[in-house]
Amino acid sequence: MKLEDVKRQVYPAECCECETVFYAEKSLFQEMGLDIGRTECPSCKIYLLMTFDGERMQTKKWSGYIEESKKLEGLAERATKRRKTR
Ligand SMILES: [Zn+2]
Repeated sequence: MKLEDVKRQVYPAECCECETVFYAEKSLFQEMGLDIGRTECPSCKIYLLMTFDGERMQTKKWSGYIEESKKLEGLAERATKRRKTR
């Protein structure tokens, strides 16, 4: 299956800061089965941490998740390496 064949689905997300509702795609991590995503609120422009509850994206302020994001970058790097060696 080619990546271009995958239909990108969007899910409603509500900014935890300004309550703007916007639509977000699943993150690369979420596609890989790790329920965490990063997005920017289109209204107040803060970074948001997204988790998917089955219907909607739940959001939290990203600040405080820098350590998490470092961990995730490591995971993504490893996943990319795995894919390349395949
Ligand atoms: Zn916002």
